[in-house]
Amino acid sequence: MSTPHEVPLPVVGISGFDAGLSEDELAVQQAVHRFAQDVMRPIGRELDRMPSEEAFLPGSPFWQFHKQIQALGLGPEAMAGLPPDQAARMEGLVFQELAWGDAGLATSFGAGAMPMLMAQASGQQELIDLCEGRLGCWAATQPDRGSDGLILYKPERYPGSKGNKGNLQATFVGDEIIINGQTSAWVSNGAVAQVALLDIVADYGTGFFDAQGSTYGCNIIVPLDLKGISRGKPLEKLGKRALPQGETYFDSVRVPRRFAIATQDDYDIKHAYAWAHAGTAMSHLAAGLSRAAFELALAYVHERKQGGAMLAEHQLTQYRLGGIGMKVEAIKAMARHVAHFTKCAPRPHPYFTASGKAFCNSEMMTVVRESLQLFGGMGLTRELPIEKLLRDAQAMQIEDGENNILQAHYGYLLSQLHLQEGFGRH
Ligand SMILES: Cc1cc2nc3c(=O)[nH]c(=O)nc-3n(C[C@H](O)[C@H](O)[C@H](O)COP(=O)(O)OP(=O)(O)OC[C@H]3O[C@@H](n4cnc5c(N)ncnc54)[C@H](O)[C@@H]3O)c2cc1C
Repeated sequence: MSTPHEVPLPVVGISGFDAGLSEDELAVQQAVHRFAQDVMRPIGRELDRMPSEEAFLPGSPFWQFHKQIQALGLGPEAMAGLPPDQAARMEGLVFQELAWGDAGLATSFGAGAMPMLMAQASGQQELIDLCEGRLGCWAATQPDRGSDGLILYKPERYPGSKGNKGNLQATFVGDEIIINGQTSAWVSNGAVAQVALLDIVADYGTGFFDAQGSTYGCNIIVPLDLKGISRGKPLEKLGKRALPQGETYFDSVRVPRRFAIATQDDYDIKHAYAWAHAGTAMSHLAAGLSRAAFELALAYVHERKQGGAMLAEHQLTQYRLGGIGMKVEAIKAMARHVAHFTKCAPRPHPYFTASGKAFCNSEMMTVVRESLQLFGGMGLTRELPIEKLLRDAQAMQIEDGENNILQAHYGYLLSQLHLQEGFGRH
């Protein structure tokens, strides 16, 4: 309590030091926060402890979550009418709160909307209808094509090497596309999704490679109940256990050519758009999970006594809290910054967005580790929620591009901007 002659404490909100939120933004933030607390946290904890083979069966808490979040109307359609800067802010508020609730479920929701997002961008009503009411996935990686799927420029490949064709390909023949192969086991929602945005290599009649050895690509919306499609089991894994992941197999699956929303000529730019969008969400998720870990630690140091006083009363603890807290604010600020640039710049770029994903997520790891450290031994027990956050955070170091790879892509972008545009020379 401050006395009258002291500087009053600042006004802070649910998410910390955020000033200037509009009434609409505050209302959405509060509504999503309540949902995160009342629905996502209990369901996330329950799914975390269930065997993956049971966690995602029809009627499980996973599907209850999706039913309930649908009712909130937070999908791409909710942001569609907003000007870009407002959409960037609103998306940030929503994803941060969702990840504060449970990062695995938040990813399931975000990845689940990817086919709809791209169908809407294509403007094709038939594809929008295909995605309506169906849980989606974004299938880009395959067993032999992980980080390689994120290489946009030939000089980034090992000299003399060709692009990676992976294990899932589309062949365009007349009015049809024939799809063969399999996704990686890591595709978010992959084990249970009902519609997919495929982001894969393609043969348009001249083979899979251009003269420079780079692959041609395509984006296709594919309902996942077609003949020739089968699934692997949901993966048993360390973190983000509330998020179902698993392989999808395609055996000569045929779809009409009009299901392709990006082909030979516009694939690269649409791939970049989809990836930049995903990277933006990943930065906000890191902000939400970081906040969750920090808040748990903040509460614990006000409960635990050592050295004759509450942990919070020791100067060393205050110093540690300050270190964690300022990282949380930096993560939030960086997430907002990349989101704003990605939505509002005349020409955004996924390698810049990737820098945000890498920064926010690696700083998040430090936040979660240092928060857990404040619990001492108690931090390791499954009785408390902090150990789950550490496992979830570890998964996010690899998800949507392994952080070191993303940082290297950003470095390449900076160098090219310097060489080609004079960036940094003035
Ligand atoms: C929680 C989670 C969710 C995911 N969701 C999706 C999804 O929705 N859709 C989807 O398609 N995929 C998804 N993925 C897959 C994810 O995109 C890949 O795991 C990631 O891109 C890394 O690929 P990889 O696992 O094959 O690792 P690899 O590419 O095999 O990398 C292994 C190691 O080698 C390093 N490495 C790779 N290439 C190079 C290089 N050229 N030079 C030097 N070092 C290199 C990497 O940095 C890494 O440390 C998800 C993964 C996780 C963990």
